[in-house]
Amino acid sequence: MGVTIQNIRVICTAPEGINLVVIKVETNQPGLYGLGCGTFAYRHLLVKQLVEEYLKPLLVGRNAENIEELWQLMHQNAYWRNGPAENNAISGVDMALWDIKGKLAGMPCYQLFGGKCREGIPVYRHVDGKDLSEICENIQRYQEMGITHLRCQCGGYGGGRYGKAPSTAPEGAPDGIYLDSRQYIRDTVKLFQGIRDRVGYDIALVHDVHERIAPMEAVRLAKELEPYDLFFLEDPIPLEQTDWLRILRQQTSIPIAQGELFNNPVEWKHLISEHLIDFIRVHLSQVGGITPARKLQIFAEQFGVRTAWHGPGDMSPIAHAANIHIDLAAPNFGVQEWSGIEPPNFVIQDLKGPHGALLEVFPGLPEYRDGYVYANDKPGLGVDLDEAEAAKYPCENTVTQWTQTRLRDGSLQTP
Ligand code: MG
Repeated sequence: MGVTIQNIRVICTAPEGINLVVIKVETNQPGLYGLGCGTFAYRHLLVKQLVEEYLKPLLVGRNAENIEELWQLMHQNAYWRNGPAENNAISGVDMALWDIKGKLAGMPCYQLFGGKCREGIPVYRHVDGKDLSEICENIQRYQEMGITHLRCQCGGYGGGRYGKAPSTAPEGAPDGIYLDSRQYIRDTVKLFQGIRDRVGYDIALVHDVHERIAPMEAVRLAKELEPYDLFFLEDPIPLEQTDWLRILRQQTSIPIAQGELFNNPVEWKHLISEHLIDFIRVHLSQVGGITPARKLQIFAEQFGVRTAWHGPGDMSPIAHAANIHIDLAAPNFGVQEWSGIEPPNFVIQDLKGPHGALLEVFPGLPEYRDGYVYANDKPGLGVDLDEAEAAKYPCENTVTQWTQTRLRDGSLQTP
């Protein structure tokens, strides 16, 4: 008898205060299970219910080795396809099936993807600060630890913290994160000019627009940032407005990275085939896991587009590992976002802590050493879950505030 799926469980845990969703696929073989990431941090109960009520009954008893068949089955089963809740649930199972496949083969997943194109993965980290001096100090500290790529922001994505409407908003305007896009553009150009003046041109710099300005403002920002030699400008155009990338492309040679909000191939296919972006940076669980991400990576390779997978704090170490395994085997790998998982004794100002709890819940996550991230050589994705530890950090449901971004007149702007 083959390897069949016997049970699927969902474990929600928040060791760093961020809701993480882990899907555990158990098989009929003693001790053989896989782990996947289905983290939709701001709607975690939706994913849990989707897996428990719909995917588990669909999949129990089926052959765990037929990953492609099971992915298509999950994708088509609800008739209406795509979307973050559905894709994250599918991703959790999909990654777990790749983890099982690796364990069956006795190989790490990157071997299943064709083996290593490189030994370690260069990553970009996030630098922020209250002013240019603080930002430059942080840049230096990262350079001392071997980091070669940095994403630089001044005060997040512009707009500061959630709070009362400023006096410039209309009477009765709601609470939110208030943005002044013209101010943000001026500050950002000044920031990069200051960084290059102080630290030179050795370090590769990235800036994340986070879709927070109007498309033509993004065109202007890109042109003004050109002299500062950015590695790429991240998500300059909102998901709903990607036709504007053609106009942006005609106006500037700044490399463009786009896609952390993408859900399905319709959204990226023409951007890649028409050379409108330089880096594709989807969020693995948001597109449905390793299976669609590998297809995307190989498709992008044909058009000279490189990968820069999304790697934020609001995904689990299992998804970070999935990123790294694909990166290791991808000839068209560009850079990997790495949101701050360091050796336990390392603390830097913009990190929330030394990540001790995260490492105890998820033993085996890839390690950063002197400029590169390395996967371990355990079969599968190489990350385990200590369920007793995970249970110490229950998830909470709260109203998400950081997505309530508003323009000066109090109307909403994509976050
Ligand atoms: Mg981003």
